[in-house]
Amino acid sequence: KEELNMIEGALELRTKTVEDVMTPLKDCFMLSADAILDFNTMSMIMQSGYTRIPVYKNEQSNIVDILFVKDLAFVDPDDDMHLKTVTTFYNHPLHCVFNDTKLDAMLEEFKKGKSHLAIVQRVNNEGEGDPFYEVLGIITLEDIIEEIIKSEILDE
Ligand code: ADP
Repeated sequence: KEELNMIEGALELRTKTVEDVMTPLKDCFMLSADAILDFNTMSMIMQSGYTRIPVYKNEQSNIVDILFVKDLAFVDPDDDMHLKTVTTFYNHPLHCVFNDTKLDAMLEEFKKGKSHLAIVQRVNNEGEGDPFYEVLGIITLEDIIEEIIKSEILDE
C-alpha cells in the first residue's frame, strides 16, 4: 500500500509545480538585512529551528541573501554584529525558480547540489504597469520528498 502511494507520488512529480508545494512567503521565517545579531535576534533564529533563512531588504518579497544558521558559529551575540557582515562574508548564491517549474525538474536541480532551497517567483503581468518578478515563497528538497512519500516529515 505504502509503495503504491510512493509510485503515485513519484508519477505526480511530472504534473505538480513548485507553487503547489512551496512554503508561501507569509509563512516564511525571514530576517531583515538591517538586523543586528544581538542576543534577541540570535535566540529567535535558534528557536525558529530552520537551517536556512532568507534575508530581505525593505520588504519581504525582496529577498537579497540566505543566511545559513551554521554561519553564526563564530558570532558572539555580545558583539552586536550586523547581519550584513555575515551574509556578505559567506555570500551564498540565491537560487530562483519560476512558479510553474515541475517537481521532477526541480528535483533534478536539487540533485545537482547547488542549494537545497530555492526562491519561487512568477512573472506578474496583471495591472497597468510593466510586468515584474514577484516572489511567492520558498521550496526545499524536503517539500518534494514529502510529495513523493505523501506524508509530512516531522522535524527533529
Ligand atoms: P530545515 O532544514 O530548516 O528544517 P527543510 O529543508 O528540512 O528545512 O524544510 C522543511 C520545511 O520547512 C519545508 O516545508 C520548507 O519549505 C520549510 N522551510 C525551510 N526554511 C524555512 C524558513 N526559513 N521559513 C519557513 N519555512 C521554511
